[in-house]
Amino acid sequence: MRKILRALGIILFSVMGLVSLHSIRVTESLKLSVQNEKATADRYKEKADSLEANLKIVEEAKDSLEKELESTKKNMEYLTALSPLKGLVSEDEINELIKEIPHGNPFRCDFIVTSKFGERTLDHGVNIRTHTGVDIIPVSDEWIITPIDSGAVESYGYDAVYGKYVYVRHSDRVRTFSAHGETIYNRGTTGHIVDDNTAIMYMGDTGYSKGKHLHFEIQVWTGERWQAVNPLPFLEG
Ligand SMILES: [Zn+2]
Repeated sequence: MRKILRALGIILFSVMGLVSLHSIRVTESLKLSVQNEKATADRYKEKADSLEANLKIVEEAKDSLEKELESTKKNMEYLTALSPLKGLVSEDEINELIKEIPHGNPFRCDFIVTSKFGERTLDHGVNIRTHTGVDIIPVSDEWIITPIDSGAVESYGYDAVYGKYVYVRHSDRVRTFSAHGETIYNRGTTGHIVDDNTAIMYMGDTGYSKGKHLHFEIQVWTGERWQAVNPLPFLEG
């Protein structure tokens, strides 16, 4: 009996030994597999981080190119607006004028353009003439006209075509012209120092005009005469 028990004990011990050896192997193999998967996950994370960094570089380059494109487009717009000066002033002067011509809004609200620069129109129903400015109308009843920037009123008056008008001198070679006014305010008369907040004129329909609007011009001194350029890119609505 004792022998049998001993034999059974030996068998049990061996079986337990085998079982524990097997579980150690299984545990180790699981550990190894977990380590492998962790290493793979780390590699993927590294790759994802590097891709994200590359994407950021590409996005930054795209932003910078978009800005450059925008600025090139804007510059082309200014060059086209100043194209009536070609042959009258040098290219360098044109580039300087792009920076010199003021930007602004003659109204105290947004506006719509009813006639563009360069469009050919009938003058008094007879002659075809080139439109030397833009015709604009405010979107709300804000009919007070202000200069687009600081300057001095050069002259004002009445003309059969342009009605009541005001010239504002902004620099030695840049002036603006506002026409068809109903009323010219005292600050809109010769010699007054004005800025973009000074009421110089009230929009009207005087002169050769079909309905209330502002005819607005930007003129550049070429050394010989005043030349109108397209004011639209300089107008901020
Ligand atoms: Zn006009």
